[in-house]
Amino acid sequence: MLRLKSLGIYFGLFLSPILLMLLLAPFITSPVTSYLLNSKGNELIAYDKERNALLDKNIISQLPRFKFDCGIEDMKILRNPDYYDRHIRLAGIQSAHGESCSTLGPGISIIQDVADMPSVTDLGISTTIKSAGTEQEYLIYSKHAGNIVYWVVNNSTIYNMLLRPCSDCFYLEFSHFSPGLEDIYLPRGNSAIKNQANSISISMSSSDNLRRVEKTLWAGDKLRNYAIQQIRYYGLLISSVFGILLAIGYLIFHNHSNSLGGLLKSALERKEFIPFYQPIIDSRTNDIVGYEALIRWQRGGELIPPGIFIDYAESQGLIIPMTTQLVSEIVADLPKMSPKQWVSVNLVAAHIERPHLQDMLMKMQWPDPERLTFEITERIPISDVKSAAREIAKLGLRGYHFKIDDFGTGYGGFAYLQQLGIRCIKIDKMFIDTIGTSDLKRSVLDAIIAFGRESKMEMIAEGVETQEQLTYLAERGVFFIQGYVYAKPMPINQVLEWAITFKNKQETKA
Ligand code: C2E
Ligand code: CA
Ligand code: CA
Repeated sequence: MLRLKSLGIYFGLFLSPILLMLLLAPFITSPVTSYLLNSKGNELIAYDKERNALLDKNIISQLPRFKFDCGIEDMKILRNPDYYDRHIRLAGIQSAHGESCSTLGPGISIIQDVADMPSVTDLGISTTIKSAGTEQEYLIYSKHAGNIVYWVVNNSTIYNMLLRPCSDCFYLEFSHFSPGLEDIYLPRGNSAIKNQANSISISMSSSDNLRRVEKTLWAGDKLRNYAIQQIRYYGLLISSVFGILLAIGYLIFHNHSNSLGGLLKSALERKEFIPFYQPIIDSRTNDIVGYEALIRWQRGGELIPPGIFIDYAESQGLIIPMTTQLVSEIVADLPKMSPKQWVSVNLVAAHIERPHLQDMLMKMQWPDPERLTFEITERIPISDVKSAAREIAKLGLRGYHFKIDDFGTGYGGFAYLQQLGIRCIKIDKMFIDTIGTSDLKRSVLDAIIAFGRESKMEMIAEGVETQEQLTYLAERGVFFIQGYVYAKPMPINQVLEWAITFKNKQETKA
């Protein structure tokens, strides 16, 4: 069910940019069509510029060499490849005396009747003579003293340009606006476009002296359809990529929230950390002197032990709010226990190296200093012992007590006791386990106990599981016992019930 739901989210995220694109597509069709038309216009203008420059250069160097008799010399000049370029289709001469020749050989009458140009360097613009079945061609001419030279301009490139990016999408119209040349009119492409209801156009006028030509580029339904096609194609491509990125982003986010750090944060918000209490018993009287509060993570029906998450929580700075949550639960549970019993809370170095513990207790208005006590493990060294000592001293003035946990497992033990002014040690299970064995660490246990007695430390033995261990410890003056021999850690209601049954048993025995 859950899998189906998250599959749905991924699918939804993937589809959302695509749907958005489909919704927006109609609104961008017109701008895209105009953009395509403008780009084509710019392309044509750039081509024109290049072509005109090349034509002018060739024509101007060729022109003064003609004799205008269509003789061998003139033919040589006409056909000289140096004066040819891809923009000239053919060139020809029509002399004042009636001689006519062209690059093709004999003269062809393609040039309209044109007037003399005012100056020798002037060039004119015209078209080939209208003849049935053929399109008029654009030509450049020079006419002086009745002698005409003409160059028919190659238009195939323009045609090809008008076929891209889609055929029949553009229509280009040239019209001359010099007086007397108004009827020079060169349509290129599909002229029907001009009359379409939705047609759009741009004008590309050139103010060049020679070619004062107005060109209008038209586009209509076909370019619009092409734009729609492109929007769909690229839109689908881009929006799919976005969709994939969104889904990947969600996957990363989801994984992060499912990572231990993310899970711990949401567990904190949902107050899923609860204390379990393990009784500590005076083996002489069987009185429950106190409890150690051991954190448990209640996640759904699961109960997660601290070994799985404490170190990580500490490395992520989550242990401070976690302890705060735990302590407020403990403070609420304290009235349910006998008023003589204390509850011991496990700390990390950060609690006392900085004033975290102090801040927490202050916010809670200094709860029950006689009954709320704290344990600092010797396993992980305190890096700033001075600050820790100051904090402990301050809290000591408020009446709070501290114990050294896991005593004997690190190097700090004895120094901590002195520097931190602590009067209670918890002997680690590691040493208790050596009782009744020939383990060398048993001598360490004996040494710890001897030290504790001499220095009048309060001693609590942890992890006591057997009667034999209990007796061994009692014989050596260690009476405060925490371990399975009496009870495992339990939730509050269970531990209260257990306490009643335990007390009843003792009374029956007595
Ligand atoms: P610890 O402070 O040394 O706590 C004693 C651990 O020994 C507890 O394990 C307890 O359940 C277990 N234990 C007690 N008696 C016996 C016994 O007879 N036999 C055996 N086999 N085990 C026994 P737990 O509850 O799993 O806690 C493990 C460690 O997690 C604790 O060791 C402590 O270092 C840490 N821890 C627990 N709660 C907290 C907390 O609220 N804050 C911090 N910072 N650390 C905590
Ligand atoms: Ca402890
Ligand atoms: Ca311990």
